[in-house]
Amino acid sequence: MTTQVRKIAFIGAGNMTQSIVGGMVSSGYPNDKIYVSNPSVGKLEKMANSLHVHTSQDNAEVANAADVIVLAVKPQLMADVCAALTKQVSNLSDKLIVTIAAGIRIEKYRQYLGESIRMIRVMPNTPSLVGKGMSGLVADDRVSDDDKNYITEAFDGVGATLWVANEDELDILGAVAGSGPAYFFEFMASLQKAAVELGFDRDKARKMVQQTALGAAEMAIASELELEELRKQVTSKGGSTAKGIEQYQAHDIDKISDAAVKAAVKRNQEMA
Ligand code: NAP
Repeated sequence: MTTQVRKIAFIGAGNMTQSIVGGMVSSGYPNDKIYVSNPSVGKLEKMANSLHVHTSQDNAEVANAADVIVLAVKPQLMADVCAALTKQVSNLSDKLIVTIAAGIRIEKYRQYLGESIRMIRVMPNTPSLVGKGMSGLVADDRVSDDDKNYITEAFDGVGATLWVANEDELDILGAVAGSGPAYFFEFMASLQKAAVELGFDRDKARKMVQQTALGAAEMAIASELELEELRKQVTSKGGSTAKGIEQYQAHDIDKISDAAVKAAVKRNQEMA
């Protein structure tokens, strides 16, 4: 942990909070500066026992204790949770507000929490749950560089972070990285089915596919070559890979991805 330590409160102790807080604590963030609230007590007990953070069933109690509030409830609960915080937390405009909920724009939070708040929206993705997330972040113009560095470091604990310029870009990032794990699972499942079709049992087929996906991702991360170039390097002219790739190209895989991402962006915009 290199940036400042602040008191940080998580509203909602679900899967994402547990992962983020776990990442922060294992990176050395002092657990006595972390507060978590949740209505049901089981998740709080788990976090108190394993991570030794402050816990409460009272959102306002943890929000009042902290300098940074992370809103980590489902989007459909956000309006009610914010309305209660507005009534019970006196100096919201002095605190940095962070939200990880999909689809709700900063303008809406201003209606919920007051015009004077300063706010960061983070769009994590599901692999954050295993420390391999891709989080997109966007800030309003009241957020300082210190605020940004602080939140970057918190989310680096569950993977990689990428700041975008505005909320429209966050919708695009959501359509690529937020929805992306589902696209990869779909593709992996189709490769697995192809292997099963040719006689492999499911477990062996799954092992082959998942290890290949992991290896390809790690090679892409380790290499400075363009992805297209990496692909060419494992495709000898006239060889079996070339025959396989011909099939993907015949069905225009670029067109499929382009349509998928555009459809997801459109949906993100409709939901905002
Ligand atoms: P989750 O596991 O369902 O966690 C949500 C938590 O909020 C639950 O522990 C729930 O408690 C708690 N909660 C319900 N009502 C509350 C209230 N009034 N005050 C405080 N806490 C309350 O969901 P999640 O996966 O962690 O997701 C959290 C947020 O991250 C959501 O907005 C989601 O859209 C966003 N997000 C998640 C992912 C992902 O991969 N999981 C990716 C991107 C964005 P009880 O269970 O006790 O009711």
